[in-house]
Amino acid sequence: MNNRQLFLQHLAQTTDFPLMIEVEKAEGVYLYGSKGEKYIDLISGIGVSNVGHRHPKVLEAIHGQLDKYLHLMVYGEYVQSPQSHLAKALCDTLPEKLDNVYLVNSGSEAIEGALKLAKRYTGKPNLISCVNAYHGSSHGSLSVGGNEIFKQAYRPLLPGVSHINYGEISDLESIDSNTAAVLVETVQGEAGIRVATKEYFQALRTRCDETGTLLILDEVQCGFGRTGKFWAFEHFGIIPDIVVCAKGMGGGMPIGAFVANKEVMGVFKNNPILGHITTFGGHPVSSAASLATIQILLEEKLIESVEEKANLIKTLLVHTKIKSIRNKGLLMAVEFDSFDTLKPIIDRAIELGVITDWFLFCDDAMRIAPPLTITSAEIHEACAIILQAIEEVFP
Ligand code: PMP
Repeated sequence: MNNRQLFLQHLAQTTDFPLMIEVEKAEGVYLYGSKGEKYIDLISGIGVSNVGHRHPKVLEAIHGQLDKYLHLMVYGEYVQSPQSHLAKALCDTLPEKLDNVYLVNSGSEAIEGALKLAKRYTGKPNLISCVNAYHGSSHGSLSVGGNEIFKQAYRPLLPGVSHINYGEISDLESIDSNTAAVLVETVQGEAGIRVATKEYFQALRTRCDETGTLLILDEVQCGFGRTGKFWAFEHFGIIPDIVVCAKGMGGGMPIGAFVANKEVMGVFKNNPILGHITTFGGHPVSSAASLATIQILLEEKLIESVEEKANLIKTLLVHTKIKSIRNKGLLMAVEFDSFDTLKPIIDRAIELGVITDWFLFCDDAMRIAPPLTITSAEIHEACAIILQAIEEVFP
């Protein structure tokens, strides 16, 4: 059997539409296929490769750590230099209050940890999240997810969870003194890039303070420079009690974190009740890669050019088939009238060498979230291909 046959025969499938591109190599914004094809990865492996694929400094950090040690012990026991330095670097990007980092493996796991922490710290039973939110695929993170269709088959889910409409100030009334935490994606990603107002975030912060509720912001997709600030919440003048990150954090390696104040995080330390235990959380190789990623984002001033690059894409992607472009920095949704219009355009764009897709809860919009390292020449090339695909599908 060849690679493709093995993929279909022995690997569990997750979608009716696997891309089926056999990738040989990835570098910068490009993926190279086994048949000599070259693709621009306009979605960064779903918001992961913010510093591009295989950034030389990420590779150097990984190689350096490979020569020292791999896994040593469950998270939180040995003093491991990549973890300690990563935690310090992460805290340096955050407001002073967020000074204590819990390293895990993924976005879903970081959400689990953050929710448990909020319940444990406040002693309260209830959680509130938003309609159309995506927070992950484990039972807890699915419970706070905001799409009923995705949840139905897995009930019963976590009790005590209710949902409010993202961006709706009047819904904040339902946050009360029994609410341990409100969990909000600062920018809703899988809903198709929805951005609430500054007034909303300020009202949210105030309501949480009034009711003794922790505000958890999920920055798994919108953090790490993606929106033109290191953290998307910086656009809105508020500070969360817990921030959750993953995806872009590892520069292509698996890692996630939830960050809180040392006093809040302290409740996890108390035996005999387990806090959050993770064997591989903050793996030293991933931590070294993540530290390098933070340094690259800051030293190469990648975040400063996000807005300009997003504006260039918006200027270039003009066509009668495109209804609108919603975005916060380089987190973009290009809206078409339906999935039936969009799907053949995406398929043709891939054949022509540009990889995009749609969103979990929004299938009439094209996802554009390129590496922040993308050059203006590469943007021109990618946008020309998308326009060509539209023209060819709808001549
Ligand atoms: N939160 C958000 C906002 C996400 O976009 C995702 C992943 N798409 C997750 C959480 C879950 O992350 P992971 O797939 O790493 O578990």
